[in-house]
Amino acid sequence: MVLKILEEGLPLDEVIFYDTGMEFASIYRNRDRIRKLLVKKKIVFTELCPDTPFLFDMLVRPVKYRKAGDRPYPYHYGYEWCGGCARWGTAGKVAVINRYYRETYPDETIVEYIGIAFDEQERIEHYPDSRTIRNYPLIEWKMKEADCLNYCHDRGYDWKEGGTELYSILDRVSCWCCRNKNLKELKAIYQYLPEYWQRLRGIQSRIAEPMKGKGKSVFELEERFERELWEKKLKKTKEVRKNGAENSSRKPERGCFQKYRGAVSGGRAGRQGKKSAAG
Ligand code: SF4
Repeated sequence: MVLKILEEGLPLDEVIFYDTGMEFASIYRNRDRIRKLLVKKKIVFTELCPDTPFLFDMLVRPVKYRKAGDRPYPYHYGYEWCGGCARWGTAGKVAVINRYYRETYPDETIVEYIGIAFDEQERIEHYPDSRTIRNYPLIEWKMKEADCLNYCHDRGYDWKEGGTELYSILDRVSCWCCRNKNLKELKAIYQYLPEYWQRLRGIQSRIAEPMKGKGKSVFELEERFERELWEKKLKKTKEVRKNGAENSSRKPERGCFQKYRGAVSGGRAGRQGKKSAAG
């Protein structure tokens, strides 16, 4: 959205990046790139962060039980997982940004651009705030999520982690620890981004509540994903063996022993002769 705003020449005084501290490395890489671009164009770039570190709020902050009941001590520690109906990280972000507006631009009306794409308009949230006017340029430009991604890729931006493009395995690139991630996304993290999976394990080891609900803690999901991946591999191996056996039981063409030499005897393990590899 920022790139296109610059390209279209829309008014832009300042860009705010809110750093939860839990973003993927590629987000920080793109932030650094955009910051350089904005500095060149003499547009203010501001970075805001939570009042206290995300992990402190998640794991350590004393939080009073809503219903203490007969508990001996009325506090538990940390808001725990963020996402679903407990998006305390998002609430913190909105509060910090609005406070910044009040302190930096008192008595001014803020016009805010929000990067919601044309095909995700259900994400629009209405805040009762008469000081801020919200614009949705991607919707005005009728740019769907895929269009935005292509637009960025065409301009040399990507979200690669190692060799994996995040947008090819995740529906949405949000905090790596977000509880809103679905099982397909979590499985992809387990499979392709083991470093982030280790971090998720670390968080789960400190929160009793399973990340995705009953029977779906990070550890339980790991067992499930491992089993599913193993079953998939086994199925594939069986198919390859079956195909190999079928191929090797076919009547050999005239002269093929001469032609394929050792490759024919490897048919059971799925080895291919020159001809089929070329075909
Ligand atoms: S992306 Fe998820 S974890 Fe991050 S602040 Fe939003 S709801 Fe919380």
